[in-house]
Formats: sequence, C-alpha cells, structure tokens
Amino acid sequence: MASPALALDGADPSFAELLAVRPALSLHAHDGLLLEGVPLQRIAAAVGSPTWVYSATTLRRRYQALAGALKGAGLNAEIHYAVKANTNRAVLAVLAAEGAGADIVSEGELRAARQAGIPAGHIVFSGVGKSERELRLALAEDIQQINAESAEEIAMISALASSLGRTARVAIRVNPDVDAGTHAKITTGKSDNKFGVAFDDALALYAHMATLPGIEPVGIATHIGSQITNGMAAYRAAYARLAELVRAIRARGLPIQRIDCGGGLGIPYRDEPAPAPEALAGAIKATLGDLGLPVMLEPGRWIVGPAGVLLASIVIQKRGATRRFLVTDAAMNDLVRPAMYDAWHGILPVAPAAFGGALSLADVVGPVCETGDTFARDRALPDLPPGELVAFLDAGAYGAVMSSTYNLRPLAAEVMVEGERFAVVRDRQSYEAMLGQGRLPPWLGGVS
Ligand SMILES: *Cc1c(COP(=O)(O)O)cnc(C)c1O
Repeated sequence: MASPALALDGADPSFAELLAVRPALSLHAHDGLLLEGVPLQRIAAAVGSPTWVYSATTLRRRYQALAGALKGAGLNAEIHYAVKANTNRAVLAVLAAEGAGADIVSEGELRAARQAGIPAGHIVFSGVGKSERELRLALAEDIQQINAESAEEIAMISALASSLGRTARVAIRVNPDVDAGTHAKITTGKSDNKFGVAFDDALALYAHMATLPGIEPVGIATHIGSQITNGMAAYRAAYARLAELVRAIRARGLPIQRIDCGGGLGIPYRDEPAPAPEALAGAIKATLGDLGLPVMLEPGRWIVGPAGVLLASIVIQKRGATRRFLVTDAAMNDLVRPAMYDAWHGILPVAPAAFGGALSLADVVGPVCETGDTFARDRALPDLPPGELVAFLDAGAYGAVMSSTYNLRPLAAEVMVEGERFAVVRDRQSYEAMLGQGRLPPWLGGVS
C-alpha cells in the first residue's frame, strides 16, 4: 500500500547521510557505531541481542528544543509527553526530570507515569474507550484533565465523579475533520475516524457539560494524527477550527481555561522533510495565539523516536534464488512498524570493518513465520555474516511498546546510555516469565 511517507524518489540515504543528521550516533575507527559515548558492540556483548538502546541526552535535548520553540514563540505552553510512544521507566524518569507532564491512555500508563514521578496534576487522560475502572483511578488520583471523546463518556464521568464526591476537569476532544495526510492507520482527525466529538456537536456538548454535576469544563482538545511530515497546513486547519470553537464557547458565556493541541509531529525516518518544532509553535501562535489561553502539547514520537535504536545480530545470511536475505535475531514481534505501517527504518552495521565493505542489495528480515516479517527490501548493505550486529535507527517510539511474544520470542532487553555509561533499564524477559503464566484447567490435571 502506498503511503505519503514512502512516496519518495531516489536512492536511500547512505550510511554517512544517515549518521550526519543523527548527532547521538557516531562511527569510531576501532569501536564501530557508538550511541553517545558507548560502542553498541559493548552493549551487545554485555546484554545480548535484540536490545533496545535509548540515549538519555537525546531525550533531554529534544524535550528542551520543543520547550524552547514554544517559549520562543511567546506561548504559555505545557508539554505532556504521550506515554504510549515509549513507556520505559527510565525514559519516563528522564522526561519527568525535565518537567514533562504525561498524556496517558490507560491505567497502566497512569501507573507508569506516577511511578516515574510525574505529578497527577500534570497528567491528561486521552482515549476513546476509558473504562469505568480507569476513570475511577483517574478521579481518585485527581489528575489534571480528562479528554472526553463522546456525550456518553461525559455522562459516565459525571456519574462516577458525583458518586465519588469528586470534580473531574474535562476537556472535549474535537474531531476537526481535517486530513493530516499521513498513513491511514495513524490518521485520527477525519470525521470517519473513531476519535473525538464531531465539530458541529462540540459547542452544544460543552454547554451541556457545564450543567452536569461532578464536572468542570476546562477546555477543548484535538489530535489529528501521527508522523505528520507534510507541513503545517493540517495543523493550521485543525487549530483554526478550535479557535472558532473557543470564540463560540465564550460567546455563550461559558468558561474555558486551556486548549490541548495534541501530538503528531513527525520525524525523518528516511529523508522526509519533517517540520521543526518552531514551525508547529508558529502555527499554534498564528491560529490560537490571540485567544489568551495556555496551550498543551502531547508529543510522543518527536521526542523519543530519534532517541532509540534496536540493536540486533545477524542469525544467517541466506542467498536465495534471486535475493540476498539477512535474517536478524530481531523480528516483527520486536519492531512491528515495518510490517504494520510499511515503515522505513535506517539500518546501519555496527562493526567498523562492515562500514567499509562493498555494498549490495539485501532484504533484511526477521525469523518469524510471516512474510510480513520484513524490515527492509533491497537495502544496500555489506556482506554481514552470522554474529555481525546491525542497528535499526529511530526505534525509540512505537518500538518496544508495540512488541509481543509472537512465535514465543521473549520481550527484548532495554538499555539506556548517557555519555560513556550504560545500564539495563528493562530486563530481557525470561523464558520462565514468558511461559509461567499458562495454566491447565482442572479437568486436564491443573490445580483450581
Ligand atoms: C498517540 C497520541 C499522541 C502522540 O502522538 P505522536 O504522533 O507520537 O506525537 C498524542 N495525543 C493523543 C491523544 C494520542 O493518541
């Protein structure tokens, strides 16, 4: 299936071009590929593969770049990191220390954000199907804001909050019916997507919400999609509609405290002309700036995507009838984005000698029993015999969080580097942990 992000002409970027725009990665003559000051070979030797490796410095730099762009545009803005992009405890802790709030979509993410030290007063709960149990916890924790997605959900929140003697601060997520021009599976702001309240219903619902017990209407929210790389037009269109709605809310004499602008800012995986945070800040300023309201942003991918790599080993180099296959010990159960979204990830060798080797085309595949378990086709790579390492680039977002144990492959380890230090920040799943939760029913000899 064609997707705009892949409709690119010309050759893939070279190794040098990939390295040039990824400042945390460098090539050392003896140690090969480094993330910050740590040779990836050293991590593989200590921790094995496949292993996710995250750069703490990159996380900080990107958070600060985004915060700086918002401030530079003169915006009163709060950043709520979209936890679903990467839920690793150390990643959350680094961002929490920078002052990030959290945008969460489940009880698990709420717990993870709190565990990492993000105050409840900086947590926003998004999602189209929050369960009663999840809403109860959010109310008990008194989180900053719940982004409601339907009239039915607002009724549920009102009833729950009233019964608990709480007041829920609620924003309405509006579906602005704009096409973010991204992959169909990650477009969320079209009227036929499941997300949000129809723009034409939002004002009446906001007014209705103001009459309900247990609810304080605090604002409106939107999130139009993910991996947006085609400029600011879709953002501007969506935010212009939000501005229109804010004016209508005020004209009714209703209170409004803030606007949640969502996430979605894309990154260059291959050579997409991904927008800078200054462009997004400028679009917000131009469309919402004169309303005098604080704004929130919910970036996920933009902060964590470029901060991570997936380190893998070649299991075998197989020369088929017409193609060369590099079979890695990472698979679609680890990094599903190529199988799920036709995503392109840069792939670099790790050993210094491999960087100088003659290149020829290869398909890079995992060992899972699915043809879709293909990371790349026709990629120019050197001869890579078994045991050689490769790094899948920009794997920090929607990587480890989307992994599974399909084919009974344990969840990979996660490592964080900072300067010349590294530490395991999530253990590789053990076979005992992976298999130990199975049970037999009593009639097959199990204990009840
Ligand atoms: C997924 C999501 C985000 C983050 O999207 P990115 O593309 O990773 O920035 C933000 N807000 C909501 C409501 C989301 O569902």
